[in-house]
Amino acid sequence: MSSFQAPRGTFDVLPADCERRALLEAHAQRILGAAGYGRIETPAFEPTELFARGVGEATDIVRKEMYTFDDGGGRSLTLRPEGTAPVCRAYLEHGMHRLAQPVKLWYLSSFFRAEAPQKGRYRQFWQVGAEAIGSDEPATDAELILLLADLLESLGIRGTRLRLSSLGTPATRADYRQELIAFLRAHEDGLSPEVVARIDLNPMRAFDAGDRRTRETMRDAPLLLHRLAPEDAEHFAAVRELLDGAGLRYELDPTLVRGLDYYTRTVFEFTSDALGAQSGVGGGGRYDGLVQQLGGDPTPAAGWAAGVERMLLAAGELPVAPAVVDLFVAVAVAGDGGRREDRTRVTGTAFELANRARRAGLSAQMELAGRSLKGQLRQADRIGAGWVAIIDGPMQVTLKNMGSGEQSQLEPAAAIAEILRGGRL
Ligand code: ATP
Ligand code: MG
Repeated sequence: MSSFQAPRGTFDVLPADCERRALLEAHAQRILGAAGYGRIETPAFEPTELFARGVGEATDIVRKEMYTFDDGGGRSLTLRPEGTAPVCRAYLEHGMHRLAQPVKLWYLSSFFRAEAPQKGRYRQFWQVGAEAIGSDEPATDAELILLLADLLESLGIRGTRLRLSSLGTPATRADYRQELIAFLRAHEDGLSPEVVARIDLNPMRAFDAGDRRTRETMRDAPLLLHRLAPEDAEHFAAVRELLDGAGLRYELDPTLVRGLDYYTRTVFEFTSDALGAQSGVGGGGRYDGLVQQLGGDPTPAAGWAAGVERMLLAAGELPVAPAVVDLFVAVAVAGDGGRREDRTRVTGTAFELANRARRAGLSAQMELAGRSLKGQLRQADRIGAGWVAIIDGPMQVTLKNMGSGEQSQLEPAAAIAEILRGGRL
């Protein structure tokens, strides 16, 4: 074992994991690409101020989960903890407000949060995200939600639940916050000490409390959903009608809060029973104030992000096709046997044959370990090669069909033709 290990809360993505991830990526590309979302990749780090201003100074993410460092020139940079603020930054930086709106973008990137690592919660993790910037149409919210539902379904994720709510405008929220704080203060006797201690810091937490007394008290608490301004209530009703019409089931959850300050109006979250404590698979909502907050004109927008590791955990087995090896190119004089010039010439022929096979669309692996011929045949068997080509001399190949055991002596070009004729095994 080496004296180094991947940092706590991070992990290596090994080849078998890469295949499952590639499959997820292909589904995301197919579903989001077909809906007209263009892929975007932003830098892994941004000015700290972007997240402080975008995500919100008071959020857990900004207060305690960011990896922030000095760039050596006195500027503060932060490894991106989320993708929405960077995408909005890019929207403004590249003048995308001049394009037809909404501008629809998606990403699959890694993000960084200094959290206590556990299953489904890491310090470097990946998210698929989608953003539609420049429309306040309820259809935008509904489309985004349906696209995420599609993605989860395409991965065969079981036991998903969709929770949905609306937060209204920041002004409605601020008024509601005061009303809720007043309610909690007036009912302190019926609340747990932990909830009482956090009344001013995070009054919404009271809705998540586990103890019975608090839960009973909270049954009479005012709900933000009942305080929405008429336009916001109408917008939310329209989103719900569209989801109903599309046959997507959801639960109204007036206590749904998300960990980012920028949300307005619609918010949603998908959870999966297949996950343990970290049950959130993905979520998002509308963020009509964010682009302006970052210096642009008032621009309505909505989006979501879903955790790649959590989706893969919830998806269980994915039908990953086993790698096909059409051809293994063996060399008769390998290792220490024979003269060096002979070995080089034979290996050169092997290279040429493998390259030709790959150009013809076949997968071909070469002997690289200096094994004996017997060892090479064993290796070909181990990787499930359909054919083995043994290079006997500069222009001569013994081609063996590993299925039937038949073999014949051919020229390299004829060997490729023979494999192609036999078809991929
Ligand atoms: P949680 O409640 O689990 O902390 P969150 O509300 O912080 O999630 P978002 O910021 O909305 O999550 O990110 C969207 C998705 O990204 C989550 O639903 C989850 O699947 C994934 N995610 C968030 N944080 C992590 C993490 N530290 N490790 C792995 N996946 C994560
Ligand atoms: Mg979190």
